[in-house]
Amino acid sequence: MKLNLNIQPLNTWIKTGKEPLVISGPCSAETEEQLVATAHLLAQTGKISALRAGIWKPRTRPGEFEGIGSIGLEWLKRAKEETGLPTAVEVATAKHVEEALKAGVDILWVGARSTANPFTVQEIADALKGVDVPVMVKNPVNPDLSLWVGALERINNAGITKLAAIHRGFSSYEKSAFRNEPMWDVAIALKTLAPELPLINDPSHISGNRDLIGYVSQKALDLDMQGLMIESHIDPSVAWTDAKQQVTPAALADIIDHLTLRKAEVRNSEVNDKLAELRNQIDKIDDLVIQKIAERMQIAEKIGQYKKDNNITILQVGRWDEILQKRTTYGKALKLSAEFTEKLLELVHNESIRRQTEVMNADAAQGQAAEKLTHA
Ligand code: PEP
Ligand code: MN
Repeated sequence: MKLNLNIQPLNTWIKTGKEPLVISGPCSAETEEQLVATAHLLAQTGKISALRAGIWKPRTRPGEFEGIGSIGLEWLKRAKEETGLPTAVEVATAKHVEEALKAGVDILWVGARSTANPFTVQEIADALKGVDVPVMVKNPVNPDLSLWVGALERINNAGITKLAAIHRGFSSYEKSAFRNEPMWDVAIALKTLAPELPLINDPSHISGNRDLIGYVSQKALDLDMQGLMIESHIDPSVAWTDAKQQVTPAALADIIDHLTLRKAEVRNSEVNDKLAELRNQIDKIDDLVIQKIAERMQIAEKIGQYKKDNNITILQVGRWDEILQKRTTYGKALKLSAEFTEKLLELVHNESIRRQTEVMNADAAQGQAAEKLTHA
């Protein structure tokens, strides 16, 4: 399935070039000096295409800094006049949209908390009707692709064609090195549904920690994302919000300098031949993997029949533990991570159980069908 979005390419609304597209600026506009000085240093790097700043901040707990409010829009205007950088702001209500547009903000974005709420998204979409402004939609805080898609559709249905998605990672109970789990597969799923929709990565909110920003940025570019939104502050150590993940403009330039841009398409025929040969090998192996899994399922069904004949339960925890243990050890010896082998086995095992359940209940199902017929 493909999404039916009506969108314009990224380069119709933001400067893109050979370097990765970078939108940068502080998490929050704090003071006029902080914002304008940061903007100047960012502009001087020559590496950024737009200046971001949070004016209204969605905070998890009351009492935290909730954004400087409308006055910050004036500071942004000044930063834009002095640096020539287009500006981008998060909007979460119709009023934010109106104020930002009135102040000449060039790009709006919908934050992760707003995307999770269709009422909020619809309110923003309604306020955007009849306006020609680029809008970027962050993924919702929870890993729900439909919510993300729904928000993009609502904004697009309001007539916004300069549209992009921002991947900023997802909240998770599991402790990890990241503030927000990247769950790259969710971003890839969106890209598969809407290949023409520009996808921008936000390594700052994924990392939560400046040391990981380079790593996450590179991974995003390797997955063919079109740009990066990175938080930058003239002095991160005293930032009012997200201090740990902000970088100075100089550090930002350094991160960008160390990124490798790879091509999605290659023209060189020698490279293409080599790629085709390797893909051919992959195709053959994939066929074999599928064939072997199908064989495994047939055996699972035989086991199901045997268990049924002998009145044995389908799941025997001891056996499953043994499979996991032996295969992950074997996988590790072949350089497959335990996590990967476990996930793969779980998928295969679940299907095996489903097939065995079918076999075990086949007579019951036949009986029910026969009963239905006699009653019909
Ligand atoms: C932000 O960009 O500063 C922000 C609040 O991000 P998110 O909506 O991704 O949490
Ligand atoms: Mn932030």
